[in-house]
Amino acid sequence: MGDVIEQLARIVGEDDVLVGDRIDADADHDEALTVTPVRPLAVVRPGTTDEVAAIVALARATGTPLTARGSATGLAGGCVPAEGGIVVSFARMNRILEIDTANYVAVVEPGVTLRELEEALTPLGLVYPVYPGELSASLGGNVATNAGGMRAVKYGVTRHQVLGVTAVLGTGEVITAGGKFVKSTSGYDLTQLIVGSEGTLAIVTRAVLKLWPRPPIATTVLVPFRTLEEVSSAVPPIVASGIAPRVVEYIDFMSMAGITSNAQMDLGIEESVREAAMAYLVVVIEGFHPDRVDEDVAGLAELVSGLGALDVYVLPEQAGARLIEAREHAFWAAKAAGAHDIVDVVVPRASIPEYLERVGELAAAESSLVVGCGHAGDGNVHLSVFQPDPDTRRRLVHAIVAAGVAMGGAVSGEHGIGTEKKHSLAELEDPVKLDLMRRIKSAFDPDGILNPGKVFDPAPAGSAR
Ligand SMILES: Cc1cc2nc3c(=O)[nH]c(=O)nc-3n(C[C@H](O)[C@H](O)[C@H](O)COP(=O)(O)OP(=O)(O)OC[C@H]3O[C@@H](n4cnc5c(N)ncnc54)[C@H](O)[C@@H]3O)c2cc1C
Repeated sequence: MGDVIEQLARIVGEDDVLVGDRIDADADHDEALTVTPVRPLAVVRPGTTDEVAAIVALARATGTPLTARGSATGLAGGCVPAEGGIVVSFARMNRILEIDTANYVAVVEPGVTLRELEEALTPLGLVYPVYPGELSASLGGNVATNAGGMRAVKYGVTRHQVLGVTAVLGTGEVITAGGKFVKSTSGYDLTQLIVGSEGTLAIVTRAVLKLWPRPPIATTVLVPFRTLEEVSSAVPPIVASGIAPRVVEYIDFMSMAGITSNAQMDLGIEESVREAAMAYLVVVIEGFHPDRVDEDVAGLAELVSGLGALDVYVLPEQAGARLIEAREHAFWAAKAAGAHDIVDVVVPRASIPEYLERVGELAAAESSLVVGCGHAGDGNVHLSVFQPDPDTRRRLVHAIVAAGVAMGGAVSGEHGIGTEKKHSLAELEDPVKLDLMRRIKSAFDPDGILNPGKVFDPAPAGSAR
């Protein structure tokens, strides 16, 4: 290993190969609640694509596992190094290379955070519209996890914004796929294959991202309902109404209590309404013209009143922004409350009521508490599971995920599979597709050095492939 460290130092310089005490104490985990930490042998901080390519070539030659790491805000164990592995950090590759206002694109290095891009775009009246809850996340991590977040109901997820990437394959070869154009039918779409691949196919060293005009007005509407079912049944008509909301979130009453107390905020909801409300819908309507936004808010109020809303609260601008921020931090509230695991199943939007009813039954059968909130507009349910016994919890989480898949959904809507959900993927995904994924992996990364043990395990020895 000493030899590998020396060779890494030859590539990036001694200062940027961290070993021993120079490795950050946090480098062994991400934010997944269940993750088993693994200490890397070294952290290497390349400054260029060529350096990343040289690192990958060295890793391939020496059989050393490499794990790309952004800001480690992931919730699936994706950036946790393999045993005996090396972490590739993008702390030095953190420049916004270009904001091209004619083509509406930004070209970024992977270490740029969402917050940094937001700060650069705001004065230009532009927005990169993917807002996963944690703005310290890196764009490399977002691309690799196909991050979603609250605005997906209007703008789509990360893959809908990534026009191109430069990436280093597991062979050490460098490719540039896509570019500053919005359409292409020119062979297989390698950009989209790399998006969401959790660092297992390639290391992304540059991304070309689509930008949007930034609507200056946003109004947050809070709608309490008597039942969770009423909340989720209101979502399809809202989406179909044509108001194109930026955010459509549901929050059950326990999560609302946790979120608001964590953020120390009082939304001014009357006591009688609060007592009757089992769940809330939060809708954000945005626009460029105040009268049109007002018209849409009035239309929404009329619509939800006819769907059983207990009341409709149009929040003052600051309170609305604080509620959205508090909702973004729901994970921290759940963690502070002692949640043992979280689930981010996605189901078809219209199946949310049926799905949540099933989750309630499963939780009751295991005498467990499962509460949540989620991106109701796109069917992505975030559940906090409170069950201290690991075996019961694993069984319950698996049953909750399996129920979502059985309803036509998927194991993870946005957090990814990493290490923490790979057993569910292995059991619930079509084996033919899993096998194809393994073959794709071996085309990109023939020696399996890029983030091994994530998403799926290698095929068992002696199997057909
Ligand atoms: C409070 C909170 C709220 C959150 N809310 C949301 C949400 O609403 N929606 C959502 O989608 N996620 C959410 N997340 C999860 C997390 O923020 C996202 O998964 C994010 O995309 C991870 O980015 P990161 O830079 O932290 O990546 P990391 O955690 O460092 O890595 C994630 C994965 O990306 C890979 N990777 C990182 N950089 C590269 C690269 N350059 N090339 C190839 N692979 C790479 C890693 O190997 C790993 O597999 C939330 C997390 C927290 C803590």
